[in-house]
Amino acid sequence: MRIGHGYDVHRYKEGRPCILCGVTVPSPFGPDGHSDADVPVHALMDAILGAAALGDIGKLFPDTDEQYKGISSILLLSRVMERIREKGYTVSNADITIIAQKPKLAPYIPEMKALLAEKMGVSPDDVNVKATTEEGLGFTGACLGMAAHAVVLLKSI
Ligand code: MG
Repeated sequence: MRIGHGYDVHRYKEGRPCILCGVTVPSPFGPDGHSDADVPVHALMDAILGAAALGDIGKLFPDTDEQYKGISSILLLSRVMERIREKGYTVSNADITIIAQKPKLAPYIPEMKALLAEKMGVSPDDVNVKATTEEGLGFTGACLGMAAHAVVLLKSI
């Protein structure tokens, strides 16, 4: 068993799509970034890579590389899964926390969980996605952006 943690933050921008865990959430603003800026999936990939001692997504998919401009983070997650399988691991379980004042995420969480489980090749019972606010405090409270944490346990195949 190997454990990994991931953390990510993106600034909000008006008119950007709000794609979280591969699900498009209706919102007048969304996370800005080089890729689709799927904040929880970035945290998740860093947790997986961390557990496998494979570095981080910045090293694997540099944001200076044009081929990753606007790329789906769910597609990158599939590549991360390939990398860890090559090393003899698979995901045992994953727990993700999204920190955002807005938009309201609760209605979309079952779909997020199902999609991530499918992409990682695990049971939906092995994936947890939750959302919280910071009670109006800090940059998430001011709706300047959102943050996400992920913790992942890997097991040998
Ligand atoms: Mg990121």
